[in-house]
Amino acid sequence: MTSVLSQFDISAKPQSIPPLLGASLDELTTWVQQQGQPGYRGKQLHDWIYHKGVRSLADISVFSKQWRSELAEIAIGRSTEHYRSVASDGTIKYLLQLDDGQIVEAVGIPSDNRLTVCVSTQVGCPMACDFCATGKGGFQRNLGRHEIVDQVLTVQEDFQRRVSNIVFMGMGEPLLNTQSVLDAIRCLNQDVGIGQRNITVSTVGIRDRIRLFARENLQVTLAVSLHAPNQGLREQLIPSARAYPLRDLFTECREYVEITGRRVTFEYVLLAGVNDLPEHAMQLAKHLRGFQSHVNLIPYNPISEVDYQRPSSDRINGFLAILKQQNIAVSVRYSRGLDADAACGQLRSQKANV
Ligand code: SAH
Repeated sequence: MTSVLSQFDISAKPQSIPPLLGASLDELTTWVQQQGQPGYRGKQLHDWIYHKGVRSLADISVFSKQWRSELAEIAIGRSTEHYRSVASDGTIKYLLQLDDGQIVEAVGIPSDNRLTVCVSTQVGCPMACDFCATGKGGFQRNLGRHEIVDQVLTVQEDFQRRVSNIVFMGMGEPLLNTQSVLDAIRCLNQDVGIGQRNITVSTVGIRDRIRLFARENLQVTLAVSLHAPNQGLREQLIPSARAYPLRDLFTECREYVEITGRRVTFEYVLLAGVNDLPEHAMQLAKHLRGFQSHVNLIPYNPISEVDYQRPSSDRINGFLAILKQQNIAVSVRYSRGLDADAACGQLRSQKANV
């Protein structure tokens, strides 16, 4: 495997140098040395990129004028804001334009003691889950590590407040872009300073990838999008479930718990009349009995492409009560930012052409 450092080889043509965002302190130090500069410039570069939010190397005032003009062509890897939507609860959804013109969503979700960022890992998504707006728009490409880290910095800079939590629950399937996701997690943890325990990666489940992810020895939380308590129903909602049945998914999740010692979160989007009946709650409880896990019930956020409905609060509470009564650790997650279409996937499809 080529080392990451070799990507920063000075002999490479400027345009083949990957964006600096996402590089560690060591990598940046080696890089400045390759440019004939003293090593301490690496620390300065690191500080300007991750803590001062510099967008062009030409703006780093502690570097000499001459060197800055040489560096002007080298990309840091920041996006530009294409559109934003602000919800009454303070949630802000950003549409960010990437280098090749593609648009990706990031969401900043503030509360009294937290600032959570919901990040995307792909432009679009190939999974095509039936109730998900992103899935309706098809798949364009994977994001690079810099494009993931950029989303967090963008929210942090805009709110002028430290990001405390990150959820990989934006556009895309993180475990189909594992290397960039792992690189971004390392950077967000070590360079941006966000605790691994405050990071959650959400996946619909990709064969063998949960196991691979477990072996990375991370402290992040794994959230698995379950959404159905039996194979037939799951296949209806999630096309990829056909090739990766519930039985195999549960086996891998059990391995995850064994390897990491951490519980798994199961996400369950509640769709009225589809997967929210008492019998579904009982089936779910049966699967999860004795399993070191936590269930997150997510009342469906309506999207325009399909006519699923959000269940009534009575139904939601009924489902919750059954799971509790069966001794399953469970909570309901009410989405923020609903009035800004910040909840799930909708904004990009409407505003990408603005
Ligand atoms: N591909 C990853 C991340 C996707 S988004 C995954 O599937 O987990 C994060 C969560 O939002 C997933 O559980 C997804 O199923 C859920 N979601 C998607 N559309 C939704 C909607 N309209 N309402 C509520 N939750 C939704």
